[in-house]
Formats: sequence, structure tokens, C-alpha cells
Amino acid sequence: MTNNAVARLEKILALEQRLGYRNKAVIGGLERLAERWRVDAQKESAGPVQRELVESIVRALNSYPAAPGLAERRQVVEEILALAEAWRSAAGQEQEGEIIAPEPALTTQQKQQIPEPAPPEVRPQRMEPQPVEPQPVGPQAVEPQRMEPQPVEPQRPLVATPPRATPVGTASLQASISRLPGVGPSYSKRLARMGIQTIGDLLWLLPRRYNDFSRLKPIHKLEAGEEVTIVANLWDLKTQRRRGGEATVIQGILGDSTATIQATWFSPYAAKQLRIGESYVFSGKVDSYLGRLVLRHPEWESLEREQIHTNRMVPVYPLTQGISARWMRKLQWEVVESWGRQIHDHLPEELRRRAGLIGLGEALEQVHFPENQARLQEARQRLAFDELFLIQLGVLRQRQSWRTLPAQPFTLPHEAQETFEGGLPFAYTGAQARAVEAMRSDMAQAKPMSRLLQGDVGSGKTVVAANAMWVTVANGAQAAMMAPTEILAEQHYRSLSRLFAGLTWQDRPVRVALVTGSQKAGERQATLEALRQGEIDIAVGTHALIQEGVAFRNLGLAIIDEQHRFGVRQRAALRDQGAANNGSQRGGMAGIEAEDGPVPHLLVMSATPIPRTLSLTLFGDLDISVIDEMPPGRQPIKTRWLVPRERERAYAFLRRQVKAGRQGFIIYPLIEESESMDVQAAVPQYEQLCREVFPDLRLGLLHGRLKSQEKDAAMVAMQNGEIDILVATAVVEVGIDVTNATTMVIEDAERFGLAQLHQFRGRVGRGEHASYCILISDATTPGAVERLQALEQIEDGFALAEKDLQLRGPGDFFGVRQSGLPDLKMAQLTDLRTLEQARTEAAHLLEQDPELAEPQHLALRRKVSQFWRGEGDIS
Ligand code: ADP
Ligand code: MG
Repeated sequence: MTNNAVARLEKILALEQRLGYRNKAVIGGLERLAERWRVDAQKESAGPVQRELVESIVRALNSYPAAPGLAERRQVVEEILALAEAWRSAAGQEQEGEIIAPEPALTTQQKQQIPEPAPPEVRPQRMEPQPVEPQPVGPQAVEPQRMEPQPVEPQRPLVATPPRATPVGTASLQASISRLPGVGPSYSKRLARMGIQTIGDLLWLLPRRYNDFSRLKPIHKLEAGEEVTIVANLWDLKTQRRRGGEATVIQGILGDSTATIQATWFSPYAAKQLRIGESYVFSGKVDSYLGRLVLRHPEWESLEREQIHTNRMVPVYPLTQGISARWMRKLQWEVVESWGRQIHDHLPEELRRRAGLIGLGEALEQVHFPENQARLQEARQRLAFDELFLIQLGVLRQRQSWRTLPAQPFTLPHEAQETFEGGLPFAYTGAQARAVEAMRSDMAQAKPMSRLLQGDVGSGKTVVAANAMWVTVANGAQAAMMAPTEILAEQHYRSLSRLFAGLTWQDRPVRVALVTGSQKAGERQATLEALRQGEIDIAVGTHALIQEGVAFRNLGLAIIDEQHRFGVRQRAALRDQGAANNGSQRGGMAGIEAEDGPVPHLLVMSATPIPRTLSLTLFGDLDISVIDEMPPGRQPIKTRWLVPRERERAYAFLRRQVKAGRQGFIIYPLIEESESMDVQAAVPQYEQLCREVFPDLRLGLLHGRLKSQEKDAAMVAMQNGEIDILVATAVVEVGIDVTNATTMVIEDAERFGLAQLHQFRGRVGRGEHASYCILISDATTPGAVERLQALEQIEDGFALAEKDLQLRGPGDFFGVRQSGLPDLKMAQLTDLRTLEQARTEAAHLLEQDPELAEPQHLALRRKVSQFWRGEGDIS
């Protein structure tokens, strides 16, 4: 029965939806199809229920062309699809058709069928021990009863709501949704399209928003434009056929003791269901038509039942083709009612009390069908806390497990520290000194250091990292530093070579080496061999450093620069690799011993300031040192935004700076011109600048596609002052350090993110000269304008990062995507208060039960691992 009339109709309607509801799916319109289709469909109908459904479908098809707008047409189509689904389900069992038809209420008998017990094989096998899932005795007994919505001016009391059915279901939340009555194979398929396969998935499909129909009003107080709920008697109901029976408009007159109002529907569904003389709750938007108020397409419900679609804050769920809002809402109501309160709350009771959070079942109930805004807020708070709490448990457990690994304790005699600091051309700032102090005390322990070193561009992180390397080398071990790009690795290599130039250990100079992918094979082999033998003390490189075949004699410290490009998981992988590479070579033993070898201390550097909320999350597994103080004598960088026709001024300014002995950069977004993007490009611009603008100055070119030696040459020339203006792409974003450079011109600045622009800007102002950043952009979109203005006004990197987070939201903020963080449904990564609460509680809990091994924590433990595996929130 795959190609029956109903299936054909569904295909046509699907096409109609794709074509935008223009009644173009069949020649002559859906109404032309109706008669022919009716004949076929009636032949295929088995009983009175199916025959009646066919008639309803035909009426709906006929009403379609007259439905005035897109919304009405969509509604008619959805309704036909729902009726078609009902027809299909009625095939074998006429009873089921009743349940599935969108409107009729479930009978008590049918309701009781919902939570059938799942057969035992439905439960998936789990690796972890089954937690004891206590029945939620407490919550049920303690929770206050649902409060009835308070009518504003009740004309008549609402009929008392019957108590909710006690949940009798024992089907597990992992049971398939097809076990729910009313969800047959086609509905299962549609739900699956939305990623919903189990009852638990459904419970966690949260409303996108709510229609607030909780304000009950008498009819004479209604005003056009408001969303309202009225309790009214249906005085009259007429079906009007327009143009020879083609269109159907249902008109009703609703009255209470104060006034009457007209209601209209564009589908026959209302006519089928509503009874004249009965009272209902109607909710919808008040419109004005020819000077009179009307309710268009109000939802309605009988007074006798608890209201789902009216008279409350009505949830609006994400939908897919073939699933109507009303159907979904009803299904959710059943699921929430039967499973919501049963759900095991993984938060320990005591914690929940302390943190002032409501129970999980209650939160789910309220987030689906909130009693009011305040209750919804409580529910959201609870669910948001959960997400942040699981994140914190994850990162803190990660931290904890690292801290159980063995590491080599490194101490540095006072004189050796003096030797290092004495060789520097400057004294540490207070912030640098504090960071060095923290690292030295970390590294003196037999537990591995796990520290994040954060600081704005130019705050002087490199030398702090070098100090940690010195601590390592002076203890006879090796240090490695990994940078995200070759340019940066090469630059670190040069500055570290300089910093260690005068230092010796055991009467031999400290040796620094570079390891990158683009080195010649022979050269690289020699370096790797020297690393293995321990003849090299410090290795600087790119990812090439952690590849197969790289081994250290005794790696004591691993430093990762620009870590925001990696995430918690990558960090773990990196450290494991460090440990394995290390252990496998010590004493010439291969393989097996790796597991037991000490792991290196870990220092992560981030050149991009990160708002505290994010560092507690993305770097929640690390201890944090912040260098929040610039080296003395730094000039603020003045930033100006110019429009393209003012470019000459930027050039003139740059020329004056060069004449005064300074250097500058001009940044372009792309390497070569591309047709698709209307942006300037470095290569052709470089040629033009050489020819026409600065023929008398020395220009250099730097972009990512140059060969490594060419890049090197350009960088070295810039650093040695042999180039006046370096024309470059985004490759200069990180780390390049030319103290004589004072002017940074950025073309098409709107194409870069705030954090990136701030990084560019940080390439100047690194010496004692006043420095400038000129943004050239004709941006007009609000987002871009706000970014560029923020850059003009805000100099502090941390303040700018907060702004960036605000403007872009955490999802787009650098690093969050790549970080491996699970998707968050409720929590705001910007909610510092909840985040700190979650962190405190997580730390507290892990102190009591580090492995979450106590029986009352097993459910929580399972949740943490599911959450971090990205399985979201299957409870
Ligand atoms: P970043 O934090 O951006 O990596 P760097 O470590 O590259 O910053 O340092 C920026 C510049 O500041 C370098 O030229 C460095 O030599 C210099 N510097 C670092 N610390 C100090 C200090 N305490 N006093 C003066 N100059 C410093
Ligand atoms: Mg740096």
C-alpha cells in the first residue's frame, strides 16, 4: 500500500510546501484534485472512520485556494497531513485512528495505554554499573500543586482542573517514540527527521518560545493586536462557501456576559469539532476587520480538561513537515505528564537545596508548560545550572586525573633564577613576577603543572615561558614549545635563541632548535636525533613536534602557544602524546613503559584575552595566571577608522612615520584577488603600492603561501629595519614582534573579527614609540560598525573580549566551536554567577567523592560522561 491515494496526496502536499503554498503543485489547483482523489480514497477506505476522514480531507482541499495568506495555507496543509496520518493509522485499528486524529481528547482508557512498560531489551547495554534510580518519592510529596492560572476578571469560574493522572508508565526514557500511542511509523519517521528517536529525546525537545495566552479577559476589554484568552459560549457557527463551494470560511460568534466577538477559521476542522451552545476557552490574537474586532484562528479547548493550547503560556515547539503545532504540543503534554516527574534527578538533594534549584522533573514540567514567567525562570535556571555543572565536573575531573599522574619536581636555586633575570634587558612587571612565582611553585611538585598564562598582546608572556624553560633545563630536562604557525614558531625560535644566548648549564650553552614540517629532511632528522639524545635542551616548533617519530630523551615541560585554537580534548591528547613520546625513549626502552613515565609539566599560553566566563570553561581544567599589566613605558595605541576615500591620509601618515625612522604594516584580507569577493588583496596591492604610492620606500611582502625561507627573509628584514613597510595578510596576526614598528594600517577591516583586529593592532606599540592603528573600511552594517567603533574606543584587550562575546555570542566567539564543548541548550556562557556557582558546587562534590563512585552519584557520573560524549541530555 505504498502508492495509495493517501500516499499520493502526501507527495503532492510535500511539493506544495516546497513550492511555497502557491497552489501550484497540481495543474488547476488542489481543489481540482479533490473530486478525483475522493473517489480513489473512498475505494481504499476500510471503515466509517476512514471514510469520514476522506471527507474531511476533501473539504480541506476545497478550502485551500480561499485561505487568504501563507500562514493559513500552511495550516490547511498541515491539517490535511494530520488527517492523512489519521487515515493511515485507522487502517488496521480503527481505534487508533481516533487517538491520532489531531483533535479528539484521549479517553482515560487510552491515556493509560501511553506508558507501557518497555521490554527489557530496549534498555541499551551500558559499560558503567547501573545506578540505583530511586523513585522520586520526595518531589511528588513535597512539590506544591500546580497553581491554577488566575483569571484577570473571571466572569465565571473555570471548571476545576482534574488532578493530573499519576504517572503509571515504566517505559524507559530510552524506549522508542513509536511506543507512544498516536505515534505510528510515519510520525516516527517525521520525528526522527528532527533527531527524535526516544521518549527521552522528546522530553528534551524544549520549546523555542511561548505564546502567552495566560491573560484571561472579558470580551468587552479586548483590544486589537493583543494575544488573549477568553472563556466564551459559542453562540453560532456558520460555514460559508465562497465561489461555488470552492472556499470554506468558518465563522463563529463567541459571547460572554460582557460582549460578543466574531471568530474566523479557514479550515473545516473547527466546524467539525465545535458545538454551538457549548463553552470553550479560546486563545489567539485579536485583529480588527472593517472596524470590528475579530479573533482569527483562535486555538480552543474544552473547559473540562486542563488546557494545553489555550489559557496559559503555550509552548511553541520546533516542527517539521507533517507535524502540526497542536499535535506536537499534545504529544509533549502526555510525555511530560507521564515521564516528567518520574525522571530521576541526578543532582544530590543537598546540593539542590544549597543552590536554590528546583527538581529536574519539576523543571522539565515547567519549561514545557510553565505556570507563569516566574516558574519558567526557575526552570530555566535549574536546567542552565545543570549544563554548566556538567561542564565543570568534566573539566575539574580532567584536572584531577592529570594531577594524579607523576611528574618530575623541578626546583631552581635562587642564584640560577638571578642569572636568568639578570640577563634580561628589563625587570619583570609585577604581573610577570607573580606568574613566574606561580609556575615555579607548580613545577616544584611531583604533580604536573597545568597552567594557563593569559595576557594581552605585548604583555610579555614569552619571557615568562622562557623562565619556565630555564627551570626545566637547569634540572637536566628538556622543554618544548608548540606554536600554531611556522612564522610564529620561527619567531619564538629567534627570541628564545636570543634569551638563552648567554646561559649555560653544566658548563655548556643551552641549545635551542627549531622543528617544522617544511624543514629539509636531512636537517630535520639531525635535529630529531639530537632531541632523542638529549643534546638539544629546547625545541620550538609547529604540530610537527608532536608527530610520530619525534621523541625526547626527557621532556619535562610542554608549552603550547595560542591555545584558544585548541580545546580541552585536544589538550588532553597532546599531553598524552607528550607522555608517550617521553616515556618510550627514556633508557632506550620502547613502548610499554610509556604509561608509567612521568608526564611533562604543561603551560598553555593564550595571546587573546578571554573573558573570565570562557576561561573557566574552555580552560576550566587549568590553573590560571593572568598578566594584567603592561611593561612600563608602553604608549597607548591610537586607533582611527577611516573610510576608503580617506586612504591618502593613511598613506601620508605612514610616510611621515617612516621619515621619522619608524616602520609600519599594511594588512589585506586575502592573498590574491578573487572574483567572488570584493576585497583588496595583498599581492596586486603590493605591486601597486611599490609602483605608485611608495616608490621611494622599501616595501616587503608576507603571506601564507610564500615558501618558508621567503617568509623568514621578510620577517628578518623587517626586524632588522631593512623594510619600511611590510605588506601582509592575516599571517601577521600572531606574535610578530618588531619594536620599531609604529603604524598598522588594516584594509577592509570589517572583514576581520574583533579579537583578530586587536591582535593586528598588537603588532605595533611594542616599543617606546607612540603607535597608531588605522582601520580602513566602508562598513555600514550595524555589527561591523559596532566592532570598528569598539576598537576605536576600547584599548584593553579584556574589555574588548567581553564586548566581542557580547556582540557575537559565545557560539561564534573564537575557540568555542572548536573546543569540543557540548552544545548548550539553556546555559549562557556569559552567565558568570551561575558559572561560578556551578564550579564551586562541582569542586565541593569532587572533594567528597572524587570518582563520583558513591551510589547516590552514579547517575550524575553517567550524565557527565554522556554529556561530554556529546550525547546531550539523555536522562
Ligand atoms: P606577548 O605577551 O604578546 O607574547 P611578548 O612576550 O612578545 O608579548 O613581549 C612583547 C615585548 O615586550 C617584547 O619585545 C619583550 O621583549 C618586551 N617585554 C617583555 N617584558 C617586558 C618588561 N617587563 N619590560 C619591558 N619590556 C618587556
Ligand atoms: Mg607572544
